[in-house]
Amino acid sequence: MNIAFIAHDKKKDEIVKLAVYYKEVLKKHVIYATGTTGQRIIDATGIEVHCFKSGPLGGDQQIGAYISDDKLDMIIFLRDPLTPQAHEPDISALLRLSDVYEIPLATNIGTAEILLGGLKNIEDIVNVVK
Ligand code: PGA
Repeated sequence: MNIAFIAHDKKKDEIVKLAVYYKEVLKKHVIYATGTTGQRIIDATGIEVHCFKSGPLGGDQQIGAYISDDKLDMIIFLRDPLTPQAHEPDISALLRLSDVYEIPLATNIGTAEILLGGLKNIEDIVNVVK
């Protein structure tokens, strides 16, 4: 699967913890991320991450383009709901496109754990079947 990671600044520590915890699962997939989030995940886990531009500099729009090109299967987007973001229109566009194309998207750590836990279970099922 192709999975994109994005985290607003106050959520970056959380997304790093998530990536560290699910590192073995994530290694088996193609990981994309906005610039700063991606670099934080690389530094903490050493896994390969294809980094787009930083979110406020167009990274969210690049991810939106990937969604509309059918190149993403899952998005983990830890948003900060308490801080206004300069690139709010880009964020809204990304969320809208994920609904248009029906891509599973987590906007908080609770949903993110369900999605990544589900991904891990799918792999276990596939392994048992093999
Ligand atoms: P960043 O972008 O990972 O480059 O910080 C995320 C965002 O703020 O949209």
